[in-house]
Amino acid sequence: MKKRIILLHIISITFVFLSAQITPQKFIDGPYIFYLENGISVKYYNNGKTISNIYKFNGEQEITFNGLLNDKNCTYSIPQNISDNPNDLIGKHEKIFVCSDIHGQSKIFVELLKNSGIIDENRNWIFGNGILIIDGDIFDRGVGVTEILWLIIGLEKQAQSFGGEVRVLLGNHEIMVLQNDMRYLDEKYNLIAKTFELEPKNLYDINTFFGKWLRSKNTLLKIDKLLFVHAGISTKIVEQNLSINEINNLVKNNIELDRKSIKTNETLNLIFGSFGLFWYRGYFYKTKRYPKITIQEFETILTQFDVEKIIVGHTTQKNILTIFDGKIIAVDSGLKYGDKGEGLLIENNDFTIFDLKGKKKSLFNNEK
Ligand code: ZN
Repeated sequence: MKKRIILLHIISITFVFLSAQITPQKFIDGPYIFYLENGISVKYYNNGKTISNIYKFNGEQEITFNGLLNDKNCTYSIPQNISDNPNDLIGKHEKIFVCSDIHGQSKIFVELLKNSGIIDENRNWIFGNGILIIDGDIFDRGVGVTEILWLIIGLEKQAQSFGGEVRVLLGNHEIMVLQNDMRYLDEKYNLIAKTFELEPKNLYDINTFFGKWLRSKNTLLKIDKLLFVHAGISTKIVEQNLSINEINNLVKNNIELDRKSIKTNETLNLIFGSFGLFWYRGYFYKTKRYPKITIQEFETILTQFDVEKIIVGHTTQKNILTIFDGKIIAVDSGLKYGDKGEGLLIENNDFTIFDLKGKKKSLFNNEK
């Protein structure tokens, strides 16, 4: 593990200014980190105003800065360099917790993690050496995106010190934001961008910490015989004969491409398109676009990646459930609605569903 040293900031300048054109809205959001040549600019939205602090790099590996509105009791740390190559193959692991499609619903995300034994009352990691997997779609719809991002970024670091891990996989809503399609982001983020005198896309561009962090994430993660992906893997993807690592790299290396450029390349068009890893719905229902996959077709996917189960989000179900005798596990159980939703604990060979209140039941009574 990299040695991390807390950097005391040398210069902290605060600018506060009002934006004349925008009606101030009563909420607080941030911090947003923008990279400068010799440091970072840390911005907050505070009831229609921008609050901005500048911190200088001085050769250390981590920068620590105060929390919302310069609250010294609350600090954030970011590494100066983000590893963009997290491992995508992990051996057998004794405990894994997975949920997906949080879509900005920070309050119930916290409730789910607390009542499932992942974090304590103070939002600290208590999952030991477990792996927490977010199976895509943190972004869009809800108003708690920034809060979720900072919670996860903090837990990533805490988990490491217990031998645990937090793994965020990219969903179609992360891809949309990174490809500058901001249609589904709540209006508040447009207002924050305007107040910062930026375009909405600049909140997550390559010069921001959120942007670099998102671009470092994988699309596929294999843990022993389990494969995690946001929407699913179609037989068309199998025909491309790509490895997990090749797919992850193809996504990372082409994430900035616009849709027109993607369409000129058959493999990329498939990966990012409706039969790709971010949008596919063929496990769930038959539509004009998606003929429902057969068990024989699905078995070819398991064989290709040498796994026994594929765990997906994206297509919302009433509850976490299984298809094909437990070979597909669908974990998007509607957290996006803001008042329900579940997570799945995988402990050795036990698969236990937790609801928001921490009520448990076995997964395998839930075959669709
Ligand atoms: Zn999705």
